[in-house]
Amino acid sequence: MTREEKILKNLYQELEKVHSEAQRNYKEEKIKIDQEELEKRISQSEHLVDFENIEIDKRWLEELFKEYLLALKKFGKENEMLTKKLEDSFERKKLDLEVLIKKVLCSDLNYLRSLAQKLEVEDNDLLFLGLELGKPVFKLYAEKLKGKIEFDNWGKGYCPVCGSHPAMAYLRKDDGKRILWCQFCGTEWSFMRIKCPFCSNEDQNSLRHFFTDEKSPYRVYVCDKCKRYVKTVDQRKIEEEKVLDLGWENLGTFTLDLLAQKDGYSNIGTLFGV
Ligand SMILES: [Zn+2]
Ligand SMILES: [Zn+2]
Repeated sequence: MTREEKILKNLYQELEKVHSEAQRNYKEEKIKIDQEELEKRISQSEHLVDFENIEIDKRWLEELFKEYLLALKKFGKENEMLTKKLEDSFERKKLDLEVLIKKVLCSDLNYLRSLAQKLEVEDNDLLFLGLELGKPVFKLYAEKLKGKIEFDNWGKGYCPVCGSHPAMAYLRKDDGKRILWCQFCGTEWSFMRIKCPFCSNEDQNSLRHFFTDEKSPYRVYVCDKCKRYVKTVDQRKIEEEKVLDLGWENLGTFTLDLLAQKDGYSNIGTLFGV
């Protein structure tokens, strides 16, 4: 592991602790699911919830934001400047946390770019912030909705819970099936191997994958029709005892993002994808 990867891994683990704590503190009654709407969505084979329409508890979110900044500060001098800017922007009401989360969710890159300019931070800093603040609450919703439909039979290229496109995928050890993963709510669902999850392209001539080392468990599947990519872990090639943590895999494989993006592919909505 390189020094950069180590720092990233430590930061990831620190943020995971912040998330778990935040989830424990989120009040059950604040998770509101409209049963009638849910039934309707299920009957129409739609994803289960629109996170853009949910209300996130404000005080809880502010607390999470503060914890996030504290965690970030521990990792490197350059983060001190960033956290100060974010703190000030929030105090001066230039940064609305809930709006940011929802703009990241719908990949509103214009919004993110112009806000980043205004706050004098990087686009990716805001993308990361919005994602990290949204994840704990989205995951609580996903847990509550688990079992409402069979995720293995969903068959669509977007998340059965929230409708987002996958940030990552893995080839399941037990049956070799391709499982897609949603970075927002953590949901996993199976999807055809030779089909693009973004544009549903099934033409074998425009779908391929590449890897940096044949023995490596990591591959990148690309679609030449829509120019998108999805990083994939082959679970059969990782050590038996290793638990697959896709949140970490997604961050830790950023060099693959850079490679794919250099070749003109994008996976809008994922980190480094701007
Ligand atoms: Zn999702
Ligand atoms: Zn495609």
